[in-house]
Amino acid sequence: MQYDFNKIEQKWQKFWQENKSFRAQMDKARKKYYCLEMFPYPSGRIHMGHVRNYTIGDVIARYKRMRGYNVLHPMGFDAFGQPAENAAIKHNSDPEEWTYKCIDWMKVELKKMGFSYDWDREIATCHPDYYKWNQWIFLKMMEKGLAYKKASSVNWCPNCETTLANEEVINGACWRCHTQVAQKDLEQWYLKITEYQDALLEDLKELVNWPARVIAMQENWIGKSTGCEIYFRLENSDTVIPVFTTRADTIFGATYIVLAPEHEIISKIKDQISNIKEISDYIEQAKAKTKLERMEKSKTGVEIKGIKAVNPANNGKVPIFIADYVLGEYGTGAIMAVPAHDQRDFLFAKEHGLTMRIVIQKPETSNTLSGTNQKPEDLEEAYEGDGVQANSAQFDGLANQEAKLKIAQWMEKEGIGKIQTHWRLKDWLISRQRYWGTPIPVIYCEGCGIVGVPYEDLPVTLPGKIKITGEGGSPLSKAEEFISVKCPKCKKAARRESDTMATFFDSSWYFLRYCSARMDSALFDKAEVSYWMKVDQYIGGIEHAVLHLLYSRFFTKFLKSIGMLSFDEPFDKLLTQGMVLKDGEVMSKSRGNIVDPDEIIKKYGADTLRIFILFTAPPEAELEWNEAAIDGSFRFIMRIWRLLEKIESKETPLEVRRKLHSTIKKVTEDMEGGFKFNTAISAIMELVNEIYRADAVNKEMLNTLVIVLAPFIPHAAEEMWQALGNRESAFTASWPEYGEEFLKLDKVEIAIQIKGKVRDKIEMDVDIGEEKLKQAVLEREQVKKWLEGKPVKKFIVVPNKLVNIVV
Ligand SMILES: [Zn+2]
Ligand SMILES: [Zn+2]
Repeated sequence: MQYDFNKIEQKWQKFWQENKSFRAQMDKARKKYYCLEMFPYPSGRIHMGHVRNYTIGDVIARYKRMRGYNVLHPMGFDAFGQPAENAAIKHNSDPEEWTYKCIDWMKVELKKMGFSYDWDREIATCHPDYYKWNQWIFLKMMEKGLAYKKASSVNWCPNCETTLANEEVINGACWRCHTQVAQKDLEQWYLKITEYQDALLEDLKELVNWPARVIAMQENWIGKSTGCEIYFRLENSDTVIPVFTTRADTIFGATYIVLAPEHEIISKIKDQISNIKEISDYIEQAKAKTKLERMEKSKTGVEIKGIKAVNPANNGKVPIFIADYVLGEYGTGAIMAVPAHDQRDFLFAKEHGLTMRIVIQKPETSNTLSGTNQKPEDLEEAYEGDGVQANSAQFDGLANQEAKLKIAQWMEKEGIGKIQTHWRLKDWLISRQRYWGTPIPVIYCEGCGIVGVPYEDLPVTLPGKIKITGEGGSPLSKAEEFISVKCPKCKKAARRESDTMATFFDSSWYFLRYCSARMDSALFDKAEVSYWMKVDQYIGGIEHAVLHLLYSRFFTKFLKSIGMLSFDEPFDKLLTQGMVLKDGEVMSKSRGNIVDPDEIIKKYGADTLRIFILFTAPPEAELEWNEAAIDGSFRFIMRIWRLLEKIESKETPLEVRRKLHSTIKKVTEDMEGGFKFNTAISAIMELVNEIYRADAVNKEMLNTLVIVLAPFIPHAAEEMWQALGNRESAFTASWPEYGEEFLKLDKVEIAIQIKGKVRDKIEMDVDIGEEKLKQAVLEREQVKKWLEGKPVKKFIVVPNKLVNIVV
């Protein structure tokens, strides 16, 4: 029988589709399993990263199905966003047409991989049936005060007349037209994710099945820090500049302060600034830079001359700087600088010849209780570690961690500071001046103000036939028939919002929509959601560790707060698959090192590609592309295939039977214990070797082998299963159990030779290590007797057969 993978794979893909083999239906009598891979952006082609992500998910879904679970395994498309709009600008085409064409293409490719999706639940976020519910959620958030409008400074291309994401600003210029990008204040829509900051942080503790790395990234992003707001006064004035620090223990060492260029105090004191021209020029330059550039690259700063501030702890007069690495919107827009104990401040102070003061002594240098034997001028770098307070008045001699709270309490009592908690998390800016996104369902009326579109008028659909040029601001703002409406309240002429939503909005709840994808009277059916959710296993790239996963958690908590859900967290287990590399680098168009999955499928078949992906590396690790390993994967399948010709009716030898059962055990444990596909496949390879060695295979044996292989190579497994005379699909079969009795039989009798003669026998586990064997042997009474208390000179082991003791 030929292994004609092309024919076989098409045959089974057609079979699964026609029989709706992977349709999921709620059945409360059965335990469910929701397996989900992050849905793709429909760029038109699937790449190797997708193939890896979805292959991992598919093996899990198929395996769980065979374990008896009612499996939900859906697929859809994250279909709004900039690439469609850019393609429209470039080719003068329609984003909608382009997107649906891409979706069709990708579906063809996904089907060629044989993924076990329930296509009846397919969603595309650009479809009005879907984004209607984005608008519904938005309006609910607006009702609760969680969606609001505020002015903020954004990256702005004056030529394209549009805002730019940080990623779209390249070396300070617009990525499309290379015009210098400016900062501009714009009124935009925000979601108040900060309302949930405590819960988002606290509930991370529940996510015990998430990678520690993802938890750490979320913690850091939410960024809770307890510290102290300290009030620096301007000399000879009552004007106060608050700074926030988590290091109150270093306040006695604060020798200057730094303001953000946009700090409001600057304009108030400009008459007292002697170098106001220099300061104004610096502020102008800072405006032209992006936040990212300011935070990551900038080390510049200028002293504000003519006025000083007062360190409230020791009344020392300190210089005031402005520097663009301090951002106006973070914290108080001002920081205190402690050059002896902060490396950035240290470098800045060295450059500007500023005073340093050591207030934390390194433990090994603190041989005096007060004062320090270290001089600031000897410092080669800042000391940021823990130690003992010095030069800190009544706090000298305290451990700095202890002093941190005591100093903060003292400042609070003196009225020169206040203990505070700060969060790094900011509200989420969702306004985009783009066409290809969900219209924000809001109307502006001169009389009534901001009015939400009534629920019964949803969806607000995108108008077709819009000219998209990429210039002149939001395309929707120029679509007069879209923009002019009647106010829903007073019925007078009003204008519609022309901004659309960031696409992360769309993906923050799509996993709920899959539970009842065709529901048209609500965003989801509560009974279906309560049956299928949570997602048992979520799989996707580490690049989504923060934004998508954090937003999804936020939406879940919000929907719970309005009574739509009964759980706090959407994803039980999370697996972040590693990247696919070629020649040590990530596959990418610009590097020109892309391997097209289609080419590999044509040459070897999807099953071979699957085995390669699963066997070459554990799912979390990076996967290096290797053509030879592809070939090896193909040969492995061929080797299994040829077993069909070797079937005899004779009994399987005991050692093969044992190997079969230990393999079932190993594969089952590898699947249950974190999806170690590579070691599971490796165990199956060993079993196949054993079958060839024994040269005996019967139908029963091969049936079991095929079932164990089915999640990995579903097409070949179905074909073999049928060839073996089975009528139903292999995926209706249950996962095999292993027989303990066969595992127990994995014992061997080992002869014990002492001084050249067999004196005893011992039964041990197969392949037991030498140490354990030696210990067991030497403890035996019979052995002790023959050794007569003499020291053992040599202990020679012939594995699984014999030990020879030389005395
Ligand atoms: Zn531009
Ligand atoms: Zn009105």
